[in-house]
Amino acid sequence: MDHSLILLKKIVQEAASAASPEKQMRYIVSAVRSAMQVSVCTLYTANEEGGLTLAATDGLDPTAIGNVSLFPGEGLVGNIARNSHPLNLETAEEHPDYRYFPETHEERYQAFLGVPLVHLRRLIGVLVVQESQRRKFTADEEAFLVTIAAQLAATLALDRGRTPREPGTHDAPQTQRMIGTKGAPGIGIGTIHLLTGYDLDQVVDRECRDSESELQKFHAALQESRRDLEQGSRSLADHLPGNVTSIFSVYDMLLDSDDLIKGVETGIRQGNWAPGALRTTISEYAARFESMDDPYLRARAEDIRHIGNKLYTKLHGETTPISQSQDLILTGDMISITDIAGYKRDQLAGIFCYSGSGLSHTAILASALGIPAVMGTGKVKNLQQGVPAIVDGHQGQLILNPAGGVLAEFQQLANRERNLIEELEELKELPAITPDGYRVSLQANTGLMADVTPGLKRGAEGIGLYRSEIPFMEHENFPTEEEQLEIYRYVLHAYAGKSVTIRTLDIGGDKALPYYRFSEANPCLGWRGIRFTLDNRPIFMTQIRAMLRASEKERNLKILLPMVSRVDELDAFNILLDDACAQLHVEGYQIEKPPVGIMVEVPAAVNLLPFFARRIDFVSIGSNDLTQYLLALDRNNPRVSQLFDNLHPAVLREIYRIVQLCRQLELPVSLCGEMAADPLAAVLLLGMRIETLSMSAYSLTKIKWLIRTLPVAVAEQALQDALTMEHESQIRELIKQILIKNHLEELAG
Ligand code: PEP
Ligand code: MG
Repeated sequence: MDHSLILLKKIVQEAASAASPEKQMRYIVSAVRSAMQVSVCTLYTANEEGGLTLAATDGLDPTAIGNVSLFPGEGLVGNIARNSHPLNLETAEEHPDYRYFPETHEERYQAFLGVPLVHLRRLIGVLVVQESQRRKFTADEEAFLVTIAAQLAATLALDRGRTPREPGTHDAPQTQRMIGTKGAPGIGIGTIHLLTGYDLDQVVDRECRDSESELQKFHAALQESRRDLEQGSRSLADHLPGNVTSIFSVYDMLLDSDDLIKGVETGIRQGNWAPGALRTTISEYAARFESMDDPYLRARAEDIRHIGNKLYTKLHGETTPISQSQDLILTGDMISITDIAGYKRDQLAGIFCYSGSGLSHTAILASALGIPAVMGTGKVKNLQQGVPAIVDGHQGQLILNPAGGVLAEFQQLANRERNLIEELEELKELPAITPDGYRVSLQANTGLMADVTPGLKRGAEGIGLYRSEIPFMEHENFPTEEEQLEIYRYVLHAYAGKSVTIRTLDIGGDKALPYYRFSEANPCLGWRGIRFTLDNRPIFMTQIRAMLRASEKERNLKILLPMVSRVDELDAFNILLDDACAQLHVEGYQIEKPPVGIMVEVPAAVNLLPFFARRIDFVSIGSNDLTQYLLALDRNNPRVSQLFDNLHPAVLREIYRIVQLCRQLELPVSLCGEMAADPLAAVLLLGMRIETLSMSAYSLTKIKWLIRTLPVAVAEQALQDALTMEHESQIRELIKQILIKNHLEELAG
């Protein structure tokens, strides 16, 4: 057991890169057996009946694989699973739970050590090692097996999201589930359309004597790529209500960047051929971004690699043929926005990227086009063209070869979603008023230009949250006052006569600017929101001036401040606002001081509400961050995502307290986190008689249907009952039953 740490790492890494679940399990048992120098290593995996099946062994009779199953709790292995605790036995036979299976011929083995494999509270299996002689395994051996089991449990459960194949089955295509991140909402059913193209990473260096001709080829490839980009941008613009050119301009900028062009030219002049020089430049350039801490900047490395592959494909003088089929799920390591632009919108059922994140431009564009997308599952090996698949953008999962039942279920879900959204279209002009007369204002959350019009089309009564950091993220540097003015004016004008709540720059945490980097150990507790803007007054002043000037004509602006946790932050902001108003008056602008509100999303703000009250005009509850900070749960961490629930009793009670406090203080209150779009949560918010709910355009009509169907009196009673409950699951069940009883079962989830 020397060098156990190195061994452990090697086993975990190799298991993670196995080509199939069977190979992975076979590798695990043989690697553990040889690392621990034992006679037998066996892996049992949890089966659907709640028992365990012998899935792989190195040392027992291999015919036992798939043929030995234990009932829940049966035998030593069942004991380990039940107690979630290792068993280290000198002589297995002497334990009262010992069971003998003739298929395994295991009577020869006495020493027994078994450990449970548990991931995110779920039993994945049991890993056992055995020896012929009587002996107790040492503490070091036990620690090694426990440690490796903890890591392998995650690999077996989550590795590329694949469900381990039932042992003994080999022929029929298996349903496989890949867990990734949510790219764009919706359910897409179709077939895998692999975009292979050329992989620049595979290019090797090659000596070249005619550097002039290589330089020419490179510049021709640049030219052609620019032309493709322009065409793609034009073809997609037809499908988008707003302006998406800012996304394309990032690619444009990369194609024009000195770092790229000069880097490749230098490589060629030093004697490399164009593809070799391109590979070196792109990988250095991308590596700089990949090593950065913040997710937004890391996502830019993706754009750089897209551009590299695109240029390489052009250097080859060939392009990937464009399919004419329908229901395509564009699939690849990285799908670029130009890849998407190569297809007609109605050919595309979904997008599936092995790499990438929800913050990538691909994801932003997919959302704007209404194409469900799943990103970041990790590489899927041996994936074939034309394999049936489901992109579930709501859950961030991709299902390959869905079995009949699964397919039918998703088909139904997708149809229901489409029909519901179509049917609910007719509600868009009607007010969100309950049958017993309580009126709620339903507004839209936005930030992308392309997102402004869908909100209006779906009957939004205003913008409840304009996330101004999104246009900041789309720029290459801090946007100037004039650039911001144009953006805000566009939004305020689009919603003329309706209120538009623009939130001041909320960067930090998981939202970073590509051109202003800082690294923090605890970014969510660091330089975020108003803390950042108050410390960077020129940036803040520019933004406030741009907002005020943009509101001159329509006068429908409200300013919202993020992450407020202190009274002096508000005082400092008010001084800035007064200053900005005074400056603009002197400059001749006819502006009015707009209403100012705060996001209540840091728990400290709740207790300070009585002090804030005379300084502000309204409150907007940021349930995403409030939940994160109240429960001390990272909102973006998949390991704890199951615990992140806006209906956690502590969150529910806190939101109720905020609404009541606001009422006492006569402050209008709205809620603009994701919670507003969850029908179960919306029932309880209605029960609190909240005045305004703001959500993505996608959810507006569903929530309006709920409000127009459910009497507020019923919602109030539901809230009172929910407040007596100890667990979010009880609360969810209660509200589900209420929705079903009130003919809203489509919303019960
Ligand atoms: C929130 O925290 O609930 C919110 C709406 O803001 P964001 O998600 O942009 O942090
Ligand atoms: Mg927030």
